[in-house]
Amino acid sequence: NNNYTENENDYIPAERLTKGRLIGEGEFASVYEGSYTKKNGELMKVAIKILHNEQMETNRGAFLSEAQVMVKLNHHCIVKLIGLSLGPPLLMVQELVLLGSILQYIDMNKDKINPNYEFKIWAAQIACGMQYLEENRFVHRDLAARNILLASQVQAKISDFGLSRALGTDHEYYRALAGGKWPLKWYAPESYNYGQFSHKSDVWSFGVTIWEMYALGASPYGEKKGSEAISLIEAGDRLEQPKECPDDIYKMIKRCWEYKAEDRPTFNELVDFFTSDSEYMNIR
Ligand code: ADP
Repeated sequence: NNNYTENENDYIPAERLTKGRLIGEGEFASVYEGSYTKKNGELMKVAIKILHNEQMETNRGAFLSEAQVMVKLNHHCIVKLIGLSLGPPLLMVQELVLLGSILQYIDMNKDKINPNYEFKIWAAQIACGMQYLEENRFVHRDLAARNILLASQVQAKISDFGLSRALGTDHEYYRALAGGKWPLKWYAPESYNYGQFSHKSDVWSFGVTIWEMYALGASPYGEKKGSEAISLIEAGDRLEQPKECPDDIYKMIKRCWEYKAEDRPTFNELVDFFTSDSEYMNIR
């Protein structure tokens, strides 16, 4: 079933959209700033994500299933899908999240960032969005710093749903399309060994994501290949404690990388941990 909704009124007519400047390029889609005229005539700034090769049935199916996931989600720590336009071109209209990914933000603001402030807030918000996903029985499968976007210095949002999920365990295909970028270094052992994805494998990826933050955007396992990273994990090694990472947080990150899935913390526990001293945060 390729319909993301049963209701035709849920599709956005192309004439209500105006495309502006290009703001991002992904593997499968280009993202533009744009505006959307709502039914009541109100103008809204949005992000317009246009699929590259919509002739390719696999891409089209994956794009639609990404929309199917996103349309069911409504949480301030998750990028909101406003609607889909069947086009051509086939496109998604999303909430505009203007400050780019946390990787880009860290890169441009290295001197300004206070790890005890921004990083803790972002970690709490990512955990909170993931807790919501878990409650709604969705597995993200591609949680990584590159997929966390910032609406403001103090509002992180999880993005990029569905493409990798829809690809399922078709590893070669992902590897081929993404030029070796299949995210092995974010994968839990049961994912790279058996293709199993669960909330607990998302917790593993959450640990890597938080590590990337405290490592100020360094890439996990540096120049090593995915297969070499796997050998390290299997030998019991884990990513080292980044200089900026407090001991208690590193301890929690390491628990996310317990070999056995059931030994890892839950997202509930992670939310509690990262919000413990932060009554003032805009998290829930
Ligand atoms: P793909 O799924 O093809 O990899 P992404 O969803 O990763 O594409 O989007 C590519 C880039 O576009 C992102 O890295 C980000 O910079 C930008 N982008 C994606 N979604 C939004 C959005 N809702 N608001 C603002 N920028 C976005």
